[in-house]
Amino acid sequence: MIYLDANATEPLRPAARAAVLAALELTGNPSSVHAAGRAAHRLLEQARESLAARFGARPADLVFTSGATEADALAIYALGRGRRLIVGATEHDAVRTAATGAAMLPVDGQGVADLAALRVLLRDGPALVCLMAANNETGTIQPVAEAAVLCHAAGALLHVDAVQAAGRIALDLAAMGADSLALSGHKLGGPQGAGALLATPAAAALLTPLIGGGGQERGRRGGTSPLPAIAGFAAAAEAATGAEHLAGLRAEVERAAVAAGAVVVGAGAPRLANTTCLALPGVAAQTQVIALDLAGVMVSAGAACSSGKVTQSHVLAAMGLGALAGEAIRVSLPWNANAADVRCFADAYRTMATRLSRRAA
Ligand code: PLP
Repeated sequence: MIYLDANATEPLRPAARAAVLAALELTGNPSSVHAAGRAAHRLLEQARESLAARFGARPADLVFTSGATEADALAIYALGRGRRLIVGATEHDAVRTAATGAAMLPVDGQGVADLAALRVLLRDGPALVCLMAANNETGTIQPVAEAAVLCHAAGALLHVDAVQAAGRIALDLAAMGADSLALSGHKLGGPQGAGALLATPAAAALLTPLIGGGGQERGRRGGTSPLPAIAGFAAAAEAATGAEHLAGLRAEVERAAVAAGAVVVGAGAPRLANTTCLALPGVAAQTQVIALDLAGVMVSAGAACSSGKVTQSHVLAAMGLGALAGEAIRVSLPWNANAADVRCFADAYRTMATRLSRRAA
């Protein structure tokens, strides 16, 4: 089986695996005062320092969470209090569901946020704007630094969901000028179960807990820290040094798909080098995913299928794709993808497209 679904979860990096196993050897709870607790606490703080340094925040302003869904929810809950919410049209559901009632910031046909529209939306009083660094379905990279300038000129705060960008492109909270950043360990080659919200000192002072409890994380997030997941998260972030090495393989994927009749969605925008969104006119995305899975190639559909109901991708619909929004799959190359994987994909895609396009015609 060939795994080309890195944007769902990256394969575990060897350094992360080693860090998880080492942390599993520790018995202590980081909150305990005895020697075992202090050893666990040291490891927790090393991970915090490493991640904070890597992504441009102070260690004291990094809150560990269960993942990015929780980090996004914490940011919106705490920083959005007393502010209007403005949310990019292609944000992940982690943001969309936490920001109910938000005004929608439109995107263009390539999925890039419309900054002229943002300027207008910002006129209506204090706001929290949520704009992702890079999209999970198309890889489109958003102009977050430019958005930060507009937000701050209008007295607004900017929260950036940086889940897909982290480890793939340069990412630094301070350099970007945003107020907070959500990260997820398993999206950059760590284990599932840990994420983080990083904030500027001013934004961190506004953080109030979404989950109470024992006062962990400086009172900003209750619950015993999942040390193995956090240690693996930090080790993965240190090992994740960009996705540019995947650009050539992604070009091969796109060449093969286009030759078989596909359209590359968002190709005109700056994109993550590991991600491509391929629409095959007339063939439902889920049908493509299943056919490729049967051929041994694992990808995902932009259209999510839950409780047996297939829904159209809100990302592709916001880009104005029309019917194609239900006919696109996402191929996201993992950090360890190789040329043989891409050859398998190309063969499977060609066979699938020939068979299903003929049936659709
Ligand atoms: N934000 C984006 C852009 C994502 O792609 C995902 C996961 O797919 C999330 C948030 C949620 O992350 P987690 O799985 O850590 O809760």
